[in-house]
Amino acid sequence: MAIVIDGKLISQQIQEELALEVKTIKTNGGKTPHLAAILVGNDGASETYVGAKVKACEKIGFKSTLVRLSQDTTEQELLYIIKGLNADADIDGYIVQLPLPKHINEQHIIEAVDPKKDVDGFHPQSVGRMALNLPTYLPATPYGILQLLERYKIETVGKHCVVIGRSHIVGSPMSILMARNTNPGNCTVTMCHSRTANLKEFTLKADIIIVALGKPEFLTADMVKDGVVVIDVGITRVTSDSTKSGFKLLGDVKYDEVAAKSSFITPVPGGVGPMTIASLLVNTLKASKKEVYK
Ligand code: NAD
Repeated sequence: MAIVIDGKLISQQIQEELALEVKTIKTNGGKTPHLAAILVGNDGASETYVGAKVKACEKIGFKSTLVRLSQDTTEQELLYIIKGLNADADIDGYIVQLPLPKHINEQHIIEAVDPKKDVDGFHPQSVGRMALNLPTYLPATPYGILQLLERYKIETVGKHCVVIGRSHIVGSPMSILMARNTNPGNCTVTMCHSRTANLKEFTLKADIIIVALGKPEFLTADMVKDGVVVIDVGITRVTSDSTKSGFKLLGDVKYDEVAAKSSFITPVPGGVGPMTIASLLVNTLKASKKEVYK
């Protein structure tokens, strides 16, 4: 039976470690790390995510600034705010919560963020530096997965890792990170996506499968070999009669049957999800300490 990877616990541990470090920094008269977040519009999910990030900052002793902008904010206005954050010496890092309203070009916004403050790791410079294994801010969700693999001491060297999904925020960076000459890393990586033919042929050979496609219970037991490590990134909200709220969250893995064949597996919720915030906070502390760019 699989060891269940407890992302909630690891995320809490990381946040406790960060809180201790911030306390020491403050005691020694150092600068309090400061994260800003820009939220455009009133998308419910985005409000929840940003709210959780701000709350996490407060809990561990970071400063946080939430810049709320209306849905009809223009691209020019947003670029002007970004210019201000780039120039603000007190702000160590900031994020622009995605998705943005349709009339704003996300790529223009991502590229306007000063790479030194790009704690989401989405700027092309950050992505390039990640691929080259140079110091940078790693994107939060893939970074969170690396931390889970590391803290659970899961062997990755020489393993065959199959990544399902090629989004810019999860699948693509994950495939790069697992192939790098680092630990965790040093895998032979197969990147699968919506146009992959005979996906099962690849997943059946995988030692590690990282699933990030957003299709509930897509990965089934017949697609995996015994002893596989399964990292489930998917989160889909589905209606449910069995919960008070009337909905529940499902991952991309048919959990019970795949867990029965796995050596390690992440649950949904409580697996990868909680790690995203922890990684963002780690990146913010790195920015504050000027660890990435001196
Ligand atoms: P996305 O929609 O941008 O990308 C999905 C990817 O899946 C695409 O690259 C596509 O090629 C691939 N895909 C689609 N159908 C496929 C198929 N049949 N076979 C193989 N590949 C297929 O999604 P995303 O932003 O990467 O998110 C994926 C999931 O992860 C979503 O459920 C999302 O909610 C979740 N997510 C969770 C976190 C977290 O913190 N835990 C963070 C980001 C995303």
